Amino acid sequence: MEPILLKNCKFIVDAINPLRKNKDILIKDGRIEQIGENLSTNGFVLDCKDCLVIPGMINAHTHSSMSLFRGIAEDSKLDEWLNKKIWPLEAKLNAYDCYVGTKLSVMEMLFSGFTCAVDMYFNMKDVAKAYIELNFRGVLSEGLFDFFNEEVLDEKLKYAETAFLDLKNIKSELIKPSFGPHSTYTCSDKLLKGIAEISNKYNALVQIHVAETKEEQELCIRRYGLREIELLKKLGLCNKRSILAHVVWLSNEEIAILKNTGAIAVQNTISNLKLAVGSTCDIRKLLNSNVNVSLGTDGPASNNSLDAFEMLKFSALFLKNMYHDPTVITSREIFRIATYDSYKLILPEINGGLIREGYVADLSVLNLNSFKLKPITEDSTHIINHLVYSCSGLRAKHVIVNGKPSILNGKLFNSNEEGIIEEFEKVFYSLLNR
Ligand SMILES: [Zn+2]
Repeated sequence: MEPILLKNCKFIVDAINPLRKNKDILIKDGRIEQIGENLSTNGFVLDCKDCLVIPGMINAHTHSSMSLFRGIAEDSKLDEWLNKKIWPLEAKLNAYDCYVGTKLSVMEMLFSGFTCAVDMYFNMKDVAKAYIELNFRGVLSEGLFDFFNEEVLDEKLKYAETAFLDLKNIKSELIKPSFGPHSTYTCSDKLLKGIAEISNKYNALVQIHVAETKEEQELCIRRYGLREIELLKKLGLCNKRSILAHVVWLSNEEIAILKNTGAIAVQNTISNLKLAVGSTCDIRKLLNSNVNVSLGTDGPASNNSLDAFEMLKFSALFLKNMYHDPTVITSREIFRIATYDSYKLILPEINGGLIREGYVADLSVLNLNSFKLKPITEDSTHIINHLVYSCSGLRAKHVIVNGKPSILNGKLFNSNEEGIIEEFEKVFYSLLNR
């Protein structure tokens, strides 16, 4: 890929470095090669004189294919939503549906500031194809459950390893394969233990839903005499490679386990609010307890948007309200979690989430002429306040992932928006009529 030069960037903002003004960013071989003045290249040159450049964000928990179910089943409880509405439709899904559903979601994520998602679903080889086509990073895992049926245990473990290896064999820099046991209430302890062993063998990440509802914790205590995090620790699934989605209902003992093991807690505030689970992951308490924290949207059927800026805003607002204290978390902390912290935790093998020489070139370029970014001053806190509190719905002008363009001048680089939407609608209606 030829080099890309972001010329005359009016502002460059990340969560740690001081504000930089009127600088060029030269991108080469997937990395930020140089930040300076009067840089040149024989590659792509993008005029950024009216632009703000920020690091891409990670969506640490989603199910991108579920865009196909967006808005079709609302106002119901989690068990009813899953059992009566989502699971019967999921049974009819094929690989092509997942590919098309993912394309719509990836497009939405790219435009809204994400450059990577942690995604658990089915037909992940086809999901990966959508990620690669649109030039988006993915930590992907095939969703797995056995519903406590011992007869299918060996088959499920074999399936999980094969699906993992299928993703690994794609050999794309954009795709990081992982394992995805759904939860403690859909997977037996034997299945979870088996996944712990296989994931150790490959030193791979594991994504799992944990402590989303109080009922889920009660069920775990009734079944095993342990709370969910205690169970996961016992089974070998609570460590630095564990990405735990939701983690709303935690005891102090469970928080201590998270701290001691380095597991990653992913807050999904909007999804929690929508399902009315009663709270959200208290990232203030977790950060104070030195627990690793990240943020996610959850799937497009339970959010229902995949908007990074909206995710930041809800995360901050919920905590402020929960503590009756507007000082409880700052916009810079929230922005740092979604960028620098998330890259460090989820993609430690690449330096990302900051705009520094040598760091991976996963960047969003925003048009400063948008009314959402007014007024603007030469103060990075003021700019980050806008990103967290007023930018939902903003569409990026350019997006670079792994040093390559995903969006240029407001348009997808490798595909076209209208075509993706048209195909998505075709697939949606064919699914309904199946
Ligand atoms: Zn989920």
